[in-house]
Amino acid sequence: MPRNYDIAELKRLDVAHHLPAQQDYKLIEDMGGSRIVTHAEGCYIYDGDGNRILDGMAGLWCVNIGYGRDELADVAADQMRELPFYNTFFKTATPPTVMLAAKIASLTGGRLPHVFFNASGSEANDTVFRMVRHYWQVKGEPKRKVFISRWNAYHGSTVAGVSLGGMKAMHEQGDLPVPGVEHVRQPYWYNEGRDMTPEAFGLACAKAIEDKILEVGPENVAAFIGEPAQGAGGVIIPPANYWPEVERIVRKYGILLVCDEVICGFGRTGNMWGHETMGVKPDMIAMAKGLSSGYQPISAVAVSKEIVDVLKTGGDFVHGFTYSGHPVAAAVALRNIEIMEREHLVERTRDDTGPYLAKMLVTLNDHPLVGETRSVGLLGAIEIVADKATGARFGGAEGTAGPMVRDLCIENGLMVRGIRDTIVMCPPLIISHAQIDEMIGIIRKALDLALPRLTAI
Ligand SMILES: *Cc1c(COP(=O)(O)O)cnc(C)c1O
Repeated sequence: MPRNYDIAELKRLDVAHHLPAQQDYKLIEDMGGSRIVTHAEGCYIYDGDGNRILDGMAGLWCVNIGYGRDELADVAADQMRELPFYNTFFKTATPPTVMLAAKIASLTGGRLPHVFFNASGSEANDTVFRMVRHYWQVKGEPKRKVFISRWNAYHGSTVAGVSLGGMKAMHEQGDLPVPGVEHVRQPYWYNEGRDMTPEAFGLACAKAIEDKILEVGPENVAAFIGEPAQGAGGVIIPPANYWPEVERIVRKYGILLVCDEVICGFGRTGNMWGHETMGVKPDMIAMAKGLSSGYQPISAVAVSKEIVDVLKTGGDFVHGFTYSGHPVAAAVALRNIEIMEREHLVERTRDDTGPYLAKMLVTLNDHPLVGETRSVGLLGAIEIVADKATGARFGGAEGTAGPMVRDLCIENGLMVRGIRDTIVMCPPLIISHAQIDEMIGIIRKALDLALPRLTAI
């Protein structure tokens, strides 16, 4: 049970001292402080105001095995007693770090046998950024520096993460991207491709990558990076032919293929990796979030033998963090993966709960506000529109309906995210059919409550 916190005092301290992530500080001040989440169990979070909320976002796309796993607390405590920290700078490593690297390698089917650890998804993508450029330098093609990414991609919040990402609002703060990152159109069929079949649109979006390669000069392009399905961009699931065509194009020009598996990895899309779901074989993948189900901050980059063989001819790769391969985080991640395997959470997502979520989302299609529902595994989205036929948005531009429906969901006991006018969900992989029913029921209620308010706009 939670401690008896003084919630009013915590809210006061929050406003006075705490700067939360990706937030308007003035808004939090006007609200009188953040919602204080005190404890959680299974698929539910509890706040200091006495609310029990179904966590439709698995924390922040990460708590795949759900909350309240004593086993992970015990593993962390045991590891802290035995060895709370040691680094990997001094020709040293710790047992959990080495075992986790081997485990991740095996989860890639041995195709990406080498693993570099960091503490966050953003750092994993920083590692990608530096390692890819270093690889081409060592290989004797130093001109290959350019990364191609997509508009509205999310690759993190560090300088490299924001640069690789395609969030214009993030670029505007601080003169990013850094030089050497080029962005191309995203495979967002509902918003950008409805005048074409999904197949034609998938090919057109892949062709944009080839056009960019030719514009930049293939000899200058280092890598293409993409999320198998975009998460923070609004759960954008590309047409089935997009990724295989992307792979064909990058192979044609000898460019590295990097998948950002920070959300899609560890079963989210119904396979261990999102790239398996999309049918491609990347040279490098970044992972975080589901790696430890958020119980510890840890991320990793898994790398092909071909790349590491080249790096081995280049001397020191002068990159790495104090907490690279942190033993407590690694021990927790290992046990998290063991739990996922023991409980068959990937198979369950693929064969049972993923298809069930898809089926239940379809039941919302009759609602006057719903333009489209889509999902892959346990990653789902609902497009809220003013006109189902044209896809027109309330207020003439996106950003009015999404926050309203999101807030109504939260008020009615479901945590979801509103991205523009897209409601997205990413529940823990332990979610039951009854809890999916609860989630869909609350969303329908929120849509019903929003309908008269939105039509009055
Ligand atoms: C969350 C996320 C990141 C950044 O991870 P952090 O741990 O927040 O740094 C990078 N890529 C993707 C696809 C993400 O969803």
